[in-house]
Amino acid sequence: MSQVLYNTLSGKKEKFIPLKEGEVKLYLCGPTVYDLLHIGNFRGPIVFNVIRNWLEFTGNKVNMVYNYTDVDDKIIQKANTEGVETKVISERYIKEFEKDFNALGLKKHTHNPRVSEHMDDIISMIEKIIINGKGYVVDGEVFFAIDEFKAYGALSKKKLDELEIGQRVEVDTRKKNPQDFVLWKPAKEGEPYWDSPWGKGRPGWHIECSAMVKSILGDSIDIHGGGVDLQFPHHENEIAQSEACNCAKYCNYWVHNEFINFGAEKMSKSLGNIITARNFMEKYNPEILKYLFLSAHYRTQMGITDDKLSQTISALNRIYSAIELAQITVDQVDAPAIADAGFDKKLVEFDNKIKKSLNDDFNTAEMISFIFEGVRTFNAIGFANKAKRTPSHKGQSESFLAWMAKYGDMSALFNSNPKDMLNRLDEILIEMKEIDKSEVEKLVKMRNDARDAKDWGMADEIRDKLQDIGVELFDGHARGWRVKVND
Ligand code: AMP
Ligand code: ZN
Repeated sequence: MSQVLYNTLSGKKEKFIPLKEGEVKLYLCGPTVYDLLHIGNFRGPIVFNVIRNWLEFTGNKVNMVYNYTDVDDKIIQKANTEGVETKVISERYIKEFEKDFNALGLKKHTHNPRVSEHMDDIISMIEKIIINGKGYVVDGEVFFAIDEFKAYGALSKKKLDELEIGQRVEVDTRKKNPQDFVLWKPAKEGEPYWDSPWGKGRPGWHIECSAMVKSILGDSIDIHGGGVDLQFPHHENEIAQSEACNCAKYCNYWVHNEFINFGAEKMSKSLGNIITARNFMEKYNPEILKYLFLSAHYRTQMGITDDKLSQTISALNRIYSAIELAQITVDQVDAPAIADAGFDKKLVEFDNKIKKSLNDDFNTAEMISFIFEGVRTFNAIGFANKAKRTPSHKGQSESFLAWMAKYGDMSALFNSNPKDMLNRLDEILIEMKEIDKSEVEKLVKMRNDARDAKDWGMADEIRDKLQDIGVELFDGHARGWRVKVND
């Protein structure tokens, strides 16, 4: 069973064959570091974390590069507003990004280059493009001549003449073709600049990724990723620049993740205007963001709704309850575990299904649904009677925990302490469902009093009332009650 992935370049699913067997060169376009990132920006890092882990799990060594764009108009603007050097802004937001990235528990990339560290590479690449006849200089500005690059438009499927028809804005008459794009531009007053053969200036946006790819991974790479918005012009231009410079195919597989929508009607009510990953993780939890994103295929658009948030919380609640039960069982049974061949066989069947799903264009949505089937199978064992838990239950629990840890590591999920996570999910539900805690506590006390007075009718009535509020009585909880979770 081999790896298949959808390649934007061909518009088809293709068998994945790395340039060198057992090694994968993977580049993902990173953020412009001038502010905190919104949750959509993290779809790429979360999805590509699984892609990279899966490729490693299936025997590849993955060299993964994710860059920081630290030379950009928005950074310069912010630096000017604050009256500081641009580096102060970019370094501040790289640190903030890293805080979010670590809170998400994603695996550190092999390299996180900054554009400012690759100026020499950028300049020598532009020089080579000019030498190869595909770039030209006008007044200290360097343009890429797209007419000299016949394959221009192959990735985004745009035709040059269509591009020209769409061109309504004022045309820069210095350009040979209105679609020619900037490789290097002269610095304006007060902007950071670097010395170059064309004068003091800074690079156009697209050349940075081409230069960082070349310097860290080489002329040709296996997979290049990013959000769909980058297909054109950013990735189209990367191909043009790199191939014009290196005279070699730039990248074999282009993988683009779809957008997380923030449209008013699609935006969750409880999410409100919370869109930075920082705020989301504070209000909810990193686990909820990761589960939410991975429960959809990366090539589908996703709008975040209250329903989806509730479903995610219910699912995590079920999963963590099962993990907690397994851990308790392992601790409780004071005898060596006995493996249960039937249960282990079922887990292997799910392994095979998950393998098939991830091999088929990294279908994490299916992976999550099979993990859930594993949880259901575990719950079906029947642990109701604490006194009757056996060494076989212990064996099943151990297998289940190891199985969950395998997929947890792969997807950066299920690694939290179950008790803490269940409490956190409960608190979130109390807030989301606007449950009045003091009212519930009053009812619970009234019910206890009724039971003490052996007034069973009243006790049942109060229990029903609690049910209506969305609360169930629960022995295992410190409060004695918890928010009901939908199945
Ligand atoms: P930027 O800093 O705007 O260049 O974005 C960094 C990365 O986030 C790029 O790969 C974008 O494609 C991606 N991105 C931006 N907005 C969204 C969104 N709403 N959903 C998913 N990805 C996004
Ligand atoms: Zn890029």
